[in-house]
Amino acid sequence: MASTISTLIKNGTVYDPMTSIFNMQKDVFLHQGKIALLGDKLDQDQLLHLTSTWSEFDANGCLVCPGLIDLHVHCFPTRTSLGVDPDVHCLPRGVTTVIDAGSAGINDFKEFKSYTATKKTRILALLHVSRPGLTRAGCATDDLSVGELECIDDVDIDGCVECVAANPTLIVGTKLRLSAQIAKAGENELEALRRALKIRRRVGLPLMVHHSFSTIPLTPTEESDLGVPGSLFSGDIRTHMYHGFNTNIVDPTTGCLDPSILDGKQRGVHSDLGHGQGGFSWTVAEISAKENVWPDAISTDLHTGNVNGPAYDLPTVMTKLLHVGMPLSAVIEAVTSKPATIIGCGNKIGSLAPGVCADVTVLRLEDWDELLEDTQGQMRKVKQRFAPVAVWKSGERVEINDKVCPNKDPQYMLDVTKEWKDLVVHDIHQE
Ligand SMILES: [Zn+2]
Repeated sequence: MASTISTLIKNGTVYDPMTSIFNMQKDVFLHQGKIALLGDKLDQDQLLHLTSTWSEFDANGCLVCPGLIDLHVHCFPTRTSLGVDPDVHCLPRGVTTVIDAGSAGINDFKEFKSYTATKKTRILALLHVSRPGLTRAGCATDDLSVGELECIDDVDIDGCVECVAANPTLIVGTKLRLSAQIAKAGENELEALRRALKIRRRVGLPLMVHHSFSTIPLTPTEESDLGVPGSLFSGDIRTHMYHGFNTNIVDPTTGCLDPSILDGKQRGVHSDLGHGQGGFSWTVAEISAKENVWPDAISTDLHTGNVNGPAYDLPTVMTKLLHVGMPLSAVIEAVTSKPATIIGCGNKIGSLAPGVCADVTVLRLEDWDELLEDTQGQMRKVKQRFAPVAVWKSGERVEINDKVCPNKDPQYMLDVTKEWKDLVVHDIHQE
């Protein structure tokens, strides 16, 4: 049952990276849609100053975090066939804010905006720099062979700048996909990136770049004057960090991380997980873990092709990062304070500091004993998982619907291993 009355969440173990609180027993009081109090043991008198009635939630044994933020999802189902309903697949799993990563370009942005207004989940947007966004490119039911960069003039610099200026509360950045197959066999990739960087400079907001099967290298070379992340600016985002295809982050000559990834990190270029249907290789994640390099944002890239596996939901993707050794506090940061800061919303969401929106997620770290697949069906035995227990969005409690995973359907397992042949980094034992 939805409820907007004041709520005391007590006895939980609080993780609030934005205020440097990690693993401390604290109470949180939600009032009038905001975090009103955060303290060691809130007593009745403190609450009575604010209101005469409230409900209580005992979070004993659970982690109490700011409402989870998923930096990369696709939630425009009315115009793209890959879109999922965030009120079904995100909010009931503890995700209070999602950032739609380029489902809409300027052609459909009005409709996208109307759609977001009908949803309980807070939706923010990265505007696709190509006019049709992801309504094409194998992401919709119309002509699957046409990618969004087939016609370079679809990347309309002035049109994007105007659209960003007209939607300052909804648009938090821009999105570009770089893959040869969606850009006239690679012919349009460099010009698309050039234009996207021009837009980025004019709007002053982060550019998120998908970079796989691309003709553009990681670092500029004699043949390519641009690279990804080599030519991205501080604050920009390279997504699908752990994909194992061509243009992945592993240097093939050393088997270690490509130096451009560490260089980008030093310059302030963010790495986004973007699990997706093809963007998470256990092998690449483990190579990165060995060098203690983690994603700045843990995101699902949730869409219809991965919501029933292999991504499932944000808690499951967090579970995978914990499994490869990412420290618990860093996992929480990557779904709260860090994505909030990356999109410039750190004073409104992603924290439990008084005055911030009353978005709170309660999670339980449970013992688990399951084989969990990556995006090409490589398996790892996971021993613990994040289970969503309770969630409040702007102070209103929303019912949790915990996901059943992994998917054990035999046809699904056949489908998920289909791209194995395209991997350039993978487990040796599956060769
Ligand atoms: Zn995506």
